[in-house]
Amino acid sequence: MENTLKEYKTSLEGLNTLEIQKRQEKYGLNKLVEPKKQHPIVLFLSQFFDALIALLLIAAIAAFLINDIIDASVILIAVLLNTIIGFVQEYKSQKAVEMLKNLVTKTAIVKRNNEIKEINSCELTIGDIVLVSEGDKVSADLKIIEANDLTADESYLTGESDAILKEINDELYMDSNILSGNAIGVVKAIGMSTSIGQIAEIVSEKSDETPLQKKVGHVGKVISLIAILVCIFVFILELFRGVPLVETFMTAISLAVAAIPEGLPAVLTLTLALGMQKMAKSNAIVRKLLSVETLGSCTIICSDKTGTLTENKMTVTDYYFLNKDKTMLIGNLCNNANLNNGKIIGNPTDGAILKFIDDNSDIGEISYKRIDETPLNSNRKMMSTTHRLDGENIITLVKGAPEIIIGECKYIDNEGNIEILSPKINKMLCEKISEMTNKALRVIGFAYKINNEDLIFTGLMGLIDPPKSNTIKAIEECKNAGIQVKMITGDHSKTAEAIARDIGILTDGKVITGEKLDELSDEEYLAIVDDIQVYARVKPMQKMRIVETLKNKGNIVSMTGDGVNDAPALKKASIGVAMGSGTDVAKESADMVIKDDDFGTIVKAIKEGRKIYDNIKRFIKFQVSTNVGAIITIIGASLLSLPLPFNPVQLLCINILMDGPPAQTLSMEGAEKDIMHRNPENGDILNKNTLTKIFISGLVMAIGTIGIFAYKLTNSNIKTAMSVAFTLFVVYQLFNAYNCKANSHKSSKYLYAGIISSFILQLLIIYLPQLQTVFRTAPINIFDWVLIILTGFTIIISEKIVNKVI
Ligand code: ADP
Ligand code: MG
Repeated sequence: MENTLKEYKTSLEGLNTLEIQKRQEKYGLNKLVEPKKQHPIVLFLSQFFDALIALLLIAAIAAFLINDIIDASVILIAVLLNTIIGFVQEYKSQKAVEMLKNLVTKTAIVKRNNEIKEINSCELTIGDIVLVSEGDKVSADLKIIEANDLTADESYLTGESDAILKEINDELYMDSNILSGNAIGVVKAIGMSTSIGQIAEIVSEKSDETPLQKKVGHVGKVISLIAILVCIFVFILELFRGVPLVETFMTAISLAVAAIPEGLPAVLTLTLALGMQKMAKSNAIVRKLLSVETLGSCTIICSDKTGTLTENKMTVTDYYFLNKDKTMLIGNLCNNANLNNGKIIGNPTDGAILKFIDDNSDIGEISYKRIDETPLNSNRKMMSTTHRLDGENIITLVKGAPEIIIGECKYIDNEGNIEILSPKINKMLCEKISEMTNKALRVIGFAYKINNEDLIFTGLMGLIDPPKSNTIKAIEECKNAGIQVKMITGDHSKTAEAIARDIGILTDGKVITGEKLDELSDEEYLAIVDDIQVYARVKPMQKMRIVETLKNKGNIVSMTGDGVNDAPALKKASIGVAMGSGTDVAKESADMVIKDDDFGTIVKAIKEGRKIYDNIKRFIKFQVSTNVGAIITIIGASLLSLPLPFNPVQLLCINILMDGPPAQTLSMEGAEKDIMHRNPENGDILNKNTLTKIFISGLVMAIGTIGIFAYKLTNSNIKTAMSVAFTLFVVYQLFNAYNCKANSHKSSKYLYAGIISSFILQLLIIYLPQLQTVFRTAPINIFDWVLIILTGFTIIISEKIVNKVI
């Protein structure tokens, strides 16, 4: 002990405050995956490293060189506004992501300054004195300096499911579970340098880009390319027409700024971040920003049974005893739960058995000292304990999945008589099991052996675990929404079948066991995967194959899990969902953590995801229409040998105005009325249909703007004509924002406020003398206003017609 303390420069009193601070600075926080974090200043400066901003800065310099101070300043203000908007959005979403990360915290008990206290486990540092006891999860790699009957489960590291006895100078690894006893240890390694950290590094390889990320990136690139080509084209054309170089150059750059949807990623991020915050409030903590929209396109949910679909509040309602006393004894001793005034503490199955024994027998008096335990594990599906019977003899008590236990038993204990477990008795027991499983009961079998002799079967208990009150409704909701629900459970296939039927998961499909699944070839499995609705007696590693196969069928799969063994499947799933009560490793691997373990929360999250998906579609449609409209207007005017209807400053204004309030508020729209009554959208967010609509909107705007501009040129000066065209184009955008609004139960008040505030801004630009100088606008008379509003209205009519036709 002395050596260990010396090695890590600490003492039994623990570290002092100063030392803790020093070490935390030196070693960093005890976190598995450090989130990428940028200092606000770095984040702000990074906004300037952007091709468009660089172009704008060049334009500003050009304007300055030809002594056009006003334009130069306006461009600089545009740059500043763009960077500030970008910065605020990114900073806000970074903060939101961080905040959500902190919702999943773990704690550790430490001794510091000679005081025992509970701290957030990320604050642990090298040399900390940590106390662990039964049921704890170790929060760093520890070297043990004191141990009492300590056993730990390290199956996630070693693959061995046995409890490992730990003594002084042994190591306890981060994220292992303490199965029994207690200990004091010195922190040896933290964060990524722990054993699990090194594994986590391998596990946390960058996951694929999510569908939306790809789509938005792609659309952005295509439009940018078109915009740049158009800019070059207009630049050359205007130059040939004899317009001065600097002016054409500035027009080309402003057009690029207005036509390239550079605001999209920022609005996208913010929309997703806000969506995450909202979901966290209803117990769904999204750990990865972009899995929010993947949720919206989810086609299949694979869900755990116990605790997720059911209450995990067990009660023994049925039994079959060959030897009642022995069964009760096993149930009582091979058990890790406790009863406190009738309240269960610990494993619900164990607790229910304990309660049943408490109410129905007085076997509780008898006790043998426990000398060993093989804990329950999701592969073996049973637990066993070994006890000292008397001086020489030991007894091993086993309880767990009945068919597995019966398979290992050679004898039965028939009221004290040991008889061979004959095929006839086997058949009788199977019938008893069927009787119970058909009633949706979880069946537990009991057996024992003395010393190294054969296992003797003693009886069965059947436990009911009722579905949660909201489960049936949530499953119904999924069906209406075109989402398939599959149950994956470690439980008996008949139990799973009965419950699945009760709650509506099993309708016309099949039940398959993990064992059967292993017998199928990949082709055979792929052929029937659509029909399988329930997977029973599944081992965690089999979940991986289920996810892969469903994904191969083109599905977006959400998969739940809680154990360390579930981590690979959670990684593989489109949306890995970890239970709030699950292991930290599962949570680290998941995209989303369901704090209340409730299936209904997953469905709620999907609904929210769909809403976000819709809203993203809305502002993309809106913004891209503006971009397309601007491109067609400029190129159209140029081709028709007209002067350009907007000057560079006006183009920049259109850009900022439209990336601003309308786009932002479109992302805040409520859910469509039919949001959970339509099939998941697995396709392109910008499919041919939407693209056609966008093009038509852009075309309508361009024709109207050019038409009115040409008309005004005939009866007024160019300044007025440009002011009218500019205002009309803005009014088109505002009407188009209205086109994109949701058909929701919630009012679109933010959108309306955004539209109105943009309109007021436009009025100021037209009528405020100072702004008139900056934007080179002239006042618009009432007759022109009528013209503008009527022409602007065509975008609403055309949208209605287009929606009918396409
Ligand atoms: P699920 O996948 O529905 O959560 P579990 O993993 O909890 O199922 O349980 C799987 C199987 O393990 C059960 O059907 C049962 O046979 C066995 N089992 C569960 N809990 C216990 C327990 N406390 N003691 C012994 N065996 C258990
Ligand atoms: Mg489970």
